[in-house]
Amino acid sequence: MTTIETVRGPVAAEDLGVTLTHEHIFTKNPEIEQQWPDPEWEGEEPMIAKAVAVFQTLKAKGIDTVVDLTVPGLGRYIPRIQKVAAATDVNIVVGTGFYTFKDLPTFFNTHGPGLMVDGPEPLTEFFIRDITEGIGDTGVKAQLIKIATDEYGITEGVGRVMSAAAAAHHETGRTISTHTHVEHFTGRDQQAFFRNAGVPLEHVLIGHCGDSTDLDYLKEIMDNGSTIGLDRFGMEQVLRDSDRIDMLVQLVEEGYEDRLTLSHDAGVFSINTPPSWRSRVAPNWHHANISDNILPAIRERGVSEASISQMMVTNAARVLTGRK
Ligand SMILES: [Zn+2]
Repeated sequence: MTTIETVRGPVAAEDLGVTLTHEHIFTKNPEIEQQWPDPEWEGEEPMIAKAVAVFQTLKAKGIDTVVDLTVPGLGRYIPRIQKVAAATDVNIVVGTGFYTFKDLPTFFNTHGPGLMVDGPEPLTEFFIRDITEGIGDTGVKAQLIKIATDEYGITEGVGRVMSAAAAAHHETGRTISTHTHVEHFTGRDQQAFFRNAGVPLEHVLIGHCGDSTDLDYLKEIMDNGSTIGLDRFGMEQVLRDSDRIDMLVQLVEEGYEDRLTLSHDAGVFSINTPPSWRSRVAPNWHHANISDNILPAIRERGVSEASISQMMVTNAARVLTGRK
């Protein structure tokens, strides 16, 4: 039996159910917030209660599992997530990795092969430790490996993260899940990098592909073996949901349903795009948008229950399983 690590412990892959594959709960920046608290962070207990309420609502709408890809660089803090997980029926899966578009924090300038504090690449050790031993002293294990490239491409710092992700994949078999910038087609560079690093592209989930309306680009990424994320429903400041729906329907009609995963990249709180900004600029960017708006819309367009289940249950479980 294949089991998937969740915040509450292992769950059989076939029991994950309907899964949102790329979400966030709390995106924070402890160093900034310790000096300059964000007025929209209402405090630990109120924000945890808010997240629990969101997750209980999701469960009632048929969502069974949520993948929280808030990795270091985005303020990952597992004890807070454990409190949410303890009070909801939704499975929460977390990741390791590092989120940066350009540079790594100063610690990594002095630690690593050939650097001042010479030694093995700490990122590789950290990623593998999160997966095999657990995160800090929480006992919670990471299931996926997250990396990001954006408009700056594969900088020196991002390249170190990606090399460490490839090494952690080879060691653990876990899927690498990515952030991309579709205007720069960074999914292509990611696939080339990981192919060179010997990572089978079926074990790389190229994220944020739903921001694109370039069918040829998306099909190229999938034809190379990767599953893609139509994972930003509601992020209408980037692309309207009507366009995202058109792309989804088109790809299903062309037979790509076994390569698609659905999610929102939403959050309960983000210091980077705070709740008041989100409700003003992108009011549908929340964790229930797929359940409330997207699924009814694609059903109306002829997408079958079997296709929805393929995307939200089967493909999600396959990605979360990684190499058997
Ligand atoms: Zn994200």
